Amino acid sequence: MTDWMTILEAQLSTDPPILTVEDAEKIYLQAPLSELMYAASERRKRQVPGNIVTYMIDRNINYTNICTINCNFCSFYRSPGHDEGYTQTLDQISTRIHELEELGGSRILMQGGVNPSLPFEWYTELLSELSMRHPSIALDCFSPIEIEGIAEVSGLSTIEVLSRLRESGMHGLPGGGAEMLVDSVRNGISPKKGSSENWIRVMGEAQSLGLTTSATNVFGFGENVRDRIEHMNKIRILQERSLSKDYPGFTSFISWPVMLENNAFGKLGSRRGATNLGAGSVEYLRHVSVSRLFMNNIDHIQSSWPTMGLKVAQIALTAGADDIGSTMMEENVVSASGTTKTMASISELEESILNCGFTPARRDSDYNILENLGAGEPHLEV
Ligand code: SF4
Repeated sequence: MTDWMTILEAQLSTDPPILTVEDAEKIYLQAPLSELMYAASERRKRQVPGNIVTYMIDRNINYTNICTINCNFCSFYRSPGHDEGYTQTLDQISTRIHELEELGGSRILMQGGVNPSLPFEWYTELLSELSMRHPSIALDCFSPIEIEGIAEVSGLSTIEVLSRLRESGMHGLPGGGAEMLVDSVRNGISPKKGSSENWIRVMGEAQSLGLTTSATNVFGFGENVRDRIEHMNKIRILQERSLSKDYPGFTSFISWPVMLENNAFGKLGSRRGATNLGAGSVEYLRHVSVSRLFMNNIDHIQSSWPTMGLKVAQIALTAGADDIGSTMMEENVVSASGTTKTMASISELEESILNCGFTPARRDSDYNILENLGAGEPHLEV
């Protein structure tokens, strides 16, 4: 039986083997954190050469909080008819984008709940108008479960919905709602969200249409390490399939532990004395390191400041991550369950990168470098 050291040594060779699920599980569980981080950092240097760490100026917009899916870890949604339910108007969304433009931003990430009261035309008209008013902003919108909700309301297939949204100006489909792509875990935390296969199918359809996509992973629901690796494996398999057809695959892999403070999931877990929910910094860094080694076909691994804080996000840059995320400007979904930091300034992100010895570079949603800031002082005080 191969031990963790042999597996990591092979990963450090000039032609490393593709990490198997079994070997990934072994190093996740057994390798010392420092060894794991070193191997991941070396892999990052090979996969994304140079000393650059990227970030993006963007804004999160949560256009509606009305949702019928009722995930038990979500504190953001309100059921239809609830007093606190809202849907933003075109002008409210456009004003937010205008504020982003003033900061030099390049994209919005617009996601919400599955709101059955919004007809299909609401989405197409919104995207058409936003792309006319804000032509330089990439509109990365919705998530697979929202696409399924829109398909149900409209009577169209999910690929028809995606195709029409793309024609209306949608640039990308962010990978929200993946959580854990293991059905036994999904059934426990969000039974109405559907199978992992649905998420994979909708993302594959988006990639077949040339939409920009990212892969996410929320962990800490009480699953075991094998489940976490199985999640990564499903993403890796889809990526392989898409790239073999010359579709643009996932730009990046982004993981973070579930937040537990303000939701039914966390409260129920603590009442039952569960000690295996969420994840601390060490476990997060192990997860990031293994994801860098496992994802041989996804170039960019993102560190997560909104859930882990900027200090841990900095350490993740030495554990294989090559991107520190984005300014976000506002965050209402994850923060409703317990994070306190919902935006990062440009100078905060640049300083965090510089202080780790890397060179900050501003990117767009497709990871094109817009500006390489070189070594030295952060150049914007925002
Ligand atoms: S996580 Fe998304 S799909 Fe689930 S309840 Fe919240 S808004 Fe709805």
